Amino acid sequence: MKNIFNYISNLLFPQKLKCIVCKNELCNSNNMYLCKNCFNNVFYIKNPCPTCGDEMLNGNTYCLNCKNRAVTYFKFNRSVFVYNNVAKNLITRAKFRGEKYLVAFLFDELYKLYINLNLSIDLITYVPSKTNKDRFYNIPELLAKKLSDKTAIPLIKTLECIKTDEQKNKDFTSRQINVKNAFKFINCDVKYKNILLIDDIYTTGATINECSKLLKTHGAQTIYALTLAHTLKK
Ligand SMILES: [Zn+2]
Ligand SMILES: [Zn+2]
Repeated sequence: MKNIFNYISNLLFPQKLKCIVCKNELCNSNNMYLCKNCFNNVFYIKNPCPTCGDEMLNGNTYCLNCKNRAVTYFKFNRSVFVYNNVAKNLITRAKFRGEKYLVAFLFDELYKLYINLNLSIDLITYVPSKTNKDRFYNIPELLAKKLSDKTAIPLIKTLECIKTDEQKNKDFTSRQINVKNAFKFINCDVKYKNILLIDDIYTTGATINECSKLLKTHGAQTIYALTLAHTLKK
């Protein structure tokens, strides 16, 4: 009986009980649902590379990854956090369990970043899911939908994933090869449009660049990318 009560109470008030990352009890309630320790480990990007949005450390003024990219089809990417352990935990839990309060928190952070960028956007789209749709919540699609609802900018599914290989555990070069022909353009009107492309994690930029290339090929004017987290380069 006690277990059932705990189960129901957890369903109703998950945020009031435990830190969503480490499960330690929250001493005082805040709308972050993170304990003090995990909250201190959320690393917001403050000094982004003008192109890829990676946090520029040690006063660096250019980013090797952007310098080495042959063609950049997107104008820029901006990410909310550095992809560290806390960010990974938040995004993975949202992806596997789709917890509403967690998706809401991630969206709020993405929305704040979007507002700060002050962009002029004609349509919102997202990087399509690379994995089996039945098993995971498609976070980029969920975030894009929420952003469209909040801003009244139309959401259009412009791309389809035609490959299922995960990018995970692949190095920079194999990622570039892997994303080639991984996506297909869905026939829709993107001509002269300024497009906001949403994804969850920016790793090498190969996926964002490939999607942007397809959109550009079909006449899009400018592609801006917005992602939750960015892996930190050394
Ligand atoms: Zn914690
Ligand atoms: Zn860069």
